[in-house]
Amino acid sequence: MGFQITPKEYVDYIVLAGEEIERNGDYVTALDAKTGDGDHWVNLNSGFKKLISIKEELKEMELSPMLKKIGMTLMSAIGGSSGVLYGSGYLAASKALKGADVLDIDTLYLFLQTELSAIMERGKAKPGWKTMIDSLYEALEAYRTAKEAGQDERHVIEAMKRGAAEGRDRTREMEAVKGRASYQTNKGVGELDPGAVTMCIQLECLSDYIVEHQL
Ligand code: ADP
Ligand code: MG
Repeated sequence: MGFQITPKEYVDYIVLAGEEIERNGDYVTALDAKTGDGDHWVNLNSGFKKLISIKEELKEMELSPMLKKIGMTLMSAIGGSSGVLYGSGYLAASKALKGADVLDIDTLYLFLQTELSAIMERGKAKPGWKTMIDSLYEALEAYRTAKEAGQDERHVIEAMKRGAAEGRDRTREMEAVKGRASYQTNKGVGELDPGAVTMCIQLECLSDYIVEHQL
């Protein structure tokens, strides 16, 4: 049997991701001070802190309502674009996963793909525009390619992790089209996008959690 992430286990992953985001505060803030308004880490970290503060409540929920609650919580706790974008992503995923009990190799893909589409729609942005989208997009490309090639679940999930990092790294040479980095004369070229960095942290934690605990 392959991996199956229950709502309770998803919350365990959220706690780990929150800790990793917390550890990267100085780095992400310094990056965002160069290309944005410097608040991205504070925004996202406060969202994860809020989620962790209600973790016992989240753990008791079914998958779809839990994702909805996470989305609503992030939307209200995070100021700035990322609150609305992550919130929209989780709310759309909650709808797409109605009736699913766990995240497995197929429903996790559906979850992330739905999140990506919702963020692109809400942000009116595309891959290649130097945003959080780039980490998620490349992670999903790698996920799909490995899955279609018939690789085992461990390899699929490890491919997703590598894809996320590649997407993050590619933002260094991208010109920002949306968001605050687009207001800069050099469009942020030469620096990683902070939102791509924090999206990548979450995807890496998710991959590590699945590989360490379930595969
Ligand atoms: P704000 O842009 O309001 O200051 P945050 O500081 O919370 O928002 O987050 C900034 C990050 O959000 C950026 O680094 C980028 O990855 C992402 N972002 C900003 N605008 C968009 C958009 N329209 N679509 C997708 N991602 C975006
Ligand atoms: Mg900001």
